[in-house]
Amino acid sequence: MGQEANPFESLQVQIEDAAAYLDIDAGVLERLKHPERVLELNLSVEMDDGSLERFRAFRSQFNGDRGPYKGGIRYHPGVTRDEVKALSGWMVYKCAVVDVPYGGGKGGIAVDPGGYSVSELERLTRSFATELRPLIGEDVDIPAPDVNTGQREMNWIKDTYETLENTTTPGVVTGKAPSSGGSLGRVRATGRSVMLTAREAFAHLHDGIEDATVAIQGFGNAGYVAADLLADEGATVVAVSDSRGAAHDPHGLDVEAVKTHKRETGSVLNAPDTESWTNKDVLTADVDLLVPAALENAIDKQTARETSAGMVVEAANGPLTPAADDILTERGIPVFPDILANAGGVTVSYFEWVQNRQRFYWTESRVNDELERAITEAFDGLVETREQYDLPNYRTAAYVVAIRRVLDAYREGGEWP
Ligand code: NAD
Repeated sequence: MGQEANPFESLQVQIEDAAAYLDIDAGVLERLKHPERVLELNLSVEMDDGSLERFRAFRSQFNGDRGPYKGGIRYHPGVTRDEVKALSGWMVYKCAVVDVPYGGGKGGIAVDPGGYSVSELERLTRSFATELRPLIGEDVDIPAPDVNTGQREMNWIKDTYETLENTTTPGVVTGKAPSSGGSLGRVRATGRSVMLTAREAFAHLHDGIEDATVAIQGFGNAGYVAADLLADEGATVVAVSDSRGAAHDPHGLDVEAVKTHKRETGSVLNAPDTESWTNKDVLTADVDLLVPAALENAIDKQTARETSAGMVVEAANGPLTPAADDILTERGIPVFPDILANAGGVTVSYFEWVQNRQRFYWTESRVNDELERAITEAFDGLVETREQYDLPNYRTAAYVVAIRRVLDAYREGGEWP
């Protein structure tokens, strides 16, 4: 992946680009560009052999003007303070774009979870949850899964919090297993919002998504579900990749067969009846739709110049560097931004939290219907705002919508002595 951009600086550029179209005082703009607080930890965790290992961990609470801080927890060796700050800021504006009443936060531990046993990961997660306890809560800050974390880690965090607080508060985290208070439809929600955004985008700019060709970088939770649902909509998924390589079939991949192959071998590479491609081949493929669904900075300016995709819908957070974004705008290739396209995860997290608070659980079809309404309304809002302000691209439109909502909440909060 290109490393030319610091993700926190990318976030700040995106905010400044949109703020240029709005009347914002310099001091207020500074507030919008920086986290309110960042917790940095050194967690000392006992390994199975009795030794002690130190892990760096972070939680950034970026902005709470619209509600509790909200955002995932990532386990990855590349986690840094700036990455967590950026991801927490994107959460603020993502929640605002889809009008979910949350602020933004994010956490992470610099760890490759593949190198540790389940019991070591449980001790690490419970140690992090213990440190987070004074800062989180269902009305304060609500963690969720992100890269390399899922229901298991959320259940551990919930259990640690509830044990220490001597209560039951399932809404302290989202993305839990349904039997621990999770919502039906949550696991597939991010991929579903990617599909819904792409479907709306093709309906808006073209005749529809049927028969559109699609390449997807990253075949994890977001990428796989997006591939599956896009194929259900009639699109032809011709290439998918993961960290080891890519599988290509110009006639359309059998998404389930590729998934089975990845489960059995650990990679999409060499899936039956497919040709091997590189990750770069996927990013530059001549397709109607490119979906980056891996990590940030996947598409740098060189790749942006070389890509032949007709449209980009961002499943990952921050997959384009600012320079790449500018090049795609210049080239007239529409980009539908992460803060709309992958907002399905946080939207259904919100539904999960509402269900937890009410102790009343919805059917999966109700969850999917409410998600569809949220994403299509947000999509229409972007299109309208882009026209109203004559904006250069959909990302700036998304930030204009989001910043206006955050500013309204901030201003309505009034003065605190
Ligand atoms: P995941 O860990 O399930 O999957 C990540 C995938 O990316 C894996 O297939 C991995 O092999 C692949 N990958 C990593 N490096 C790669 C590389 N260099 N080239 C090609 N593929 C590579 O993670 P996920 O939950 O699917 O998240 C992916 C992205 O979506 C992240 O940016 C995450 O922040 C974002 N996101 C996820 C959710 C969610 O609910 N899962 C919600 C919002 C945003």
